[in-house]
Amino acid sequence: MTDLLVVGSGFFGLTVADRCARELGLQVQVIDRRPHIGGNAYSAAEPTTGIEVHQYGAHLFHTSNQRVWEYARRFTSFTSYQHRVFTTYRGEVFSMPINLGTINQYNRSAFTPDEARAWVAEQAAKLTGEPSNLEEKAISLIGEPLYEAFIKGYTAKQWQTDPRELSADIISRLPVRYTYDNRYFSDTFEGLPTDGYTAWLERMADHPNITVTLDTDFFDTSQPFNKANVVGQVPVLYTGPVDRYFDFAHGDLSWRTLDFETEVLPTGDFQGAPVMNYADEDVPYTRIHEFRHFHPERDYPDDATVIMREFSRFADHADEPYYPVNTAQDRERLLAYRELAKGERDVVFGGRLGTYQYLDMHMAIGSALSTYDNKLAPFFSSGQALDDHGI
Ligand code: FAD
Ligand code: UDP
Repeated sequence: MTDLLVVGSGFFGLTVADRCARELGLQVQVIDRRPHIGGNAYSAAEPTTGIEVHQYGAHLFHTSNQRVWEYARRFTSFTSYQHRVFTTYRGEVFSMPINLGTINQYNRSAFTPDEARAWVAEQAAKLTGEPSNLEEKAISLIGEPLYEAFIKGYTAKQWQTDPRELSADIISRLPVRYTYDNRYFSDTFEGLPTDGYTAWLERMADHPNITVTLDTDFFDTSQPFNKANVVGQVPVLYTGPVDRYFDFAHGDLSWRTLDFETEVLPTGDFQGAPVMNYADEDVPYTRIHEFRHFHPERDYPDDATVIMREFSRFADHADEPYYPVNTAQDRERLLAYRELAKGERDVVFGGRLGTYQYLDMHMAIGSALSTYDNKLAPFFSSGQALDDHGI
């Protein structure tokens, strides 16, 4: 007998499955439409080199949330990897996120931190009022010249949406530093799972009360765990796209998808760094990942490397949805879907797709732990209704 159906085996779904099985002893059925577990965090060894490739784009684990860090370490240890990114702009390589080194290289200057601040403040002064979109936010943080060089072209390729229509949050993800610290993330904890993402995700699902069935779509009426059969019979945690759940009744929520081109090259080092961004608009890809650099501690071949070019475009129904675009129209539609979700009394919506939010892995795990604490545990332990939806 199934106590809970979890739709989607990404970090959100597996965290809830783990808690319900290990803490409450429930029988949890997990389904995923893909042929593997793990959602977008899935990785696998490239067969000829053994180099671990993150199949849905490079995934870097970082968090300042002590609870999430401790929870993650029940299933994996982490390496001491610290992420650093470089960007190529007009044939020159700069470090990202923007730091004192980037500013001084751009200006051919030797500014002190205060001088650099004063220079940026002068470049940002043209902007008046509170920044209300990505372009204004970026200019307020780094001034117009650095925005034009490092953000404008990259963002145009990544989003193909007017940066004045994009949310300021997108750029707030990137720190700006007036020191030479060029770490990409500022979180307390950072590292990569020592034996890979898939081993970590498999350990989460490895429990006698958890059954994972792959290649199984919730909307496919030919399989037993489909929406029509299950909703109202068994509580459901749904981590697929919220608009798809309601058959796009209020229109599509817009997403970006990515195309990846993977290549094995006969060299031990292609670019000397794990990620190289390309700021120029006339280079069609946004960045190149070179996976061997994520695990310098591993014994990878020294005459071969795996690179992956990343291209970004709008998603349609047949594409994998990766980044919520989140325009004003999307936000309106999301509110309408939230209203519909309130009517689904036995279904909890969660995760990146189910809430239409850009969640990093640590945020997906943190949000799943809260959903477990606030909704699922009280529902199963004391009969509290599941009706307060998470989206
Ligand atoms: P997902 O991982 O998307 O899992 C949802 C699952 O639901 C999928 O497996 C899907 O197949 C399944 N599903 C959907 N619909 C159905 C259906 N109808 N029936 C059955 N199954 C269904 N985070 C970081 O912390 N660091 C990073 O560096 C980072 N890089 C990223 C790079 C890219 C390109 C992307 C797209 C994401 C990145 N993330 C990163 C975010 C990370 O992938 C998410 O935080 C994480 O995947 C969220 O987990 P989730 O369970 O909510 O969603
Ligand atoms: N960005 C940019 N230039 C860069 C890196 C990032 O303009 O070299 C902008 C871009 O709009 C991107 C956002 O900053 O969407 C957030 O960057 P992040 O690296 O967090 O994006 P992700 O890794 O999620 O694609």
